[in-house]
Amino acid sequence: TEAHVKAVEASTPLNAYVAVTADQAITMADAADAKIKAGNINGMTGIPVGIKDLFATKGVHTQACSHILDGFKPEYESTVTQKLWDDGAIMLGKLNMDEFAMGSSNETSYYGPVKNPWRRGTTDTVPGGSSGGSVAAVAGFAAMGATASDTGGSIRQPASFTGTFGIKPTYGRCSRYGMVAFASSLDQAGVITRDVRDGAIMLASISGFDPKDSTSVDLAVPNFEAAITGDIRGMKIGIPAEYRQDGMPSEIEALWQKGIGWLKDAGAEIVDISLPHTKYALATYYIVAPAEASSNLARYDGVRYGLRVTPENGSLDAMYDATRAAGFGDEVKRRIMIGTYVLSAGYYDAYYLKAQKVRQLISNDFKSAFEKVDAILTPTAPSAAFAPGEKTDDPLSMYLNDVFTVPASLAGLPGSSVPAGLDANGLPLGLQILGKPWDEETVFKVSGVIE
Ligand code: GLN
Repeated sequence: TEAHVKAVEASTPLNAYVAVTADQAITMADAADAKIKAGNINGMTGIPVGIKDLFATKGVHTQACSHILDGFKPEYESTVTQKLWDDGAIMLGKLNMDEFAMGSSNETSYYGPVKNPWRRGTTDTVPGGSSGGSVAAVAGFAAMGATASDTGGSIRQPASFTGTFGIKPTYGRCSRYGMVAFASSLDQAGVITRDVRDGAIMLASISGFDPKDSTSVDLAVPNFEAAITGDIRGMKIGIPAEYRQDGMPSEIEALWQKGIGWLKDAGAEIVDISLPHTKYALATYYIVAPAEASSNLARYDGVRYGLRVTPENGSLDAMYDATRAAGFGDEVKRRIMIGTYVLSAGYYDAYYLKAQKVRQLISNDFKSAFEKVDAILTPTAPSAAFAPGEKTDDPLSMYLNDVFTVPASLAGLPGSSVPAGLDANGLPLGLQILGKPWDEETVFKVSGVIE
């Protein structure tokens, strides 16, 4: 823990941490030490981890990297973090992220952008988003693992950009209690680690039913680590034709072929599958997610917590306006406006209702595909890490980075990103493995073979 506290200090240029809890870490390490001496030990005992800023940590900075939650320190602990502490893990601090988890490059944080420890020659690159702080800390050896959240790809895409392993479990596997909400029907907690086995251990720690979250599901948590046997003989792996888009960079296509080769060599059967509604997934996601966000973010009104801006002699409405104008960043405002628009009378049927129907079709596509295969293999992202500023003026090109990750989010499926190689500039690239609902074990098994 002491070495990690030093590594956290040394990681300042990455801007991965927005709050450091060094004293608390040492106290927790002493407690873990006592646990270990008493023979009370499991895979997370004494392991120093970082926590994405959207998990409520009692008495500690929790702002989802937004200005509107200025000074907010929760009175309670999220279930995910509480489970880690119960297992003896150690908190190093809170990790930078895109504001309210909205972004794909960690450039929308109120606390400034995060740097990817991987560079393109001498050029900086973004770590991906929204879990940019989580991946930068883990890739930069400033945490052994990190919590993260994935609404449309925020665990998998940044894992791909930084050569780390990331897994988002089935929707409902982890409790959302104490997670700052972005889009509640999509948000899922997960983990970032340096390898697949660490990911299995850490995910097991944070998983499980929680009566405090009505969407968490009461199912036993399997031993994910035991699933990493390396044996995938006879397993059927689906390759969806629709993910092979026009204009897919040749190195992404080549990486995908390499991954297919590895799985074949390990004895898996490769099966061509079709997910016909894939082309509507991105549009559907960017209707559903902002709609839910506009509703979730209505609670930030300057009254209950965080920032309050009071114009002189102003009305209550003027206080709301001033607080929200100053407290939300541009991307968050954009999402609120899209969200309220697609939910408004007259447009609801054309956009929101339509999107919900298409979401069901996307989900059905996966259901039929999984009647034929055990897992699906695709690239995680259409590119390697890009340069800071490259997409900030063009939200659409930023959104396009989520093209391979959002379909599984809409269907609530478990998915991982495994480091699988480097591009021509020496930047990491990941492959995505998707599984059936509640079958994280297969995702881990296949991930272990790719790694
Ligand atoms: N990049 C996507 C977005 O901006 C996904 C974010 C996430 O998964 N939290 O909405």
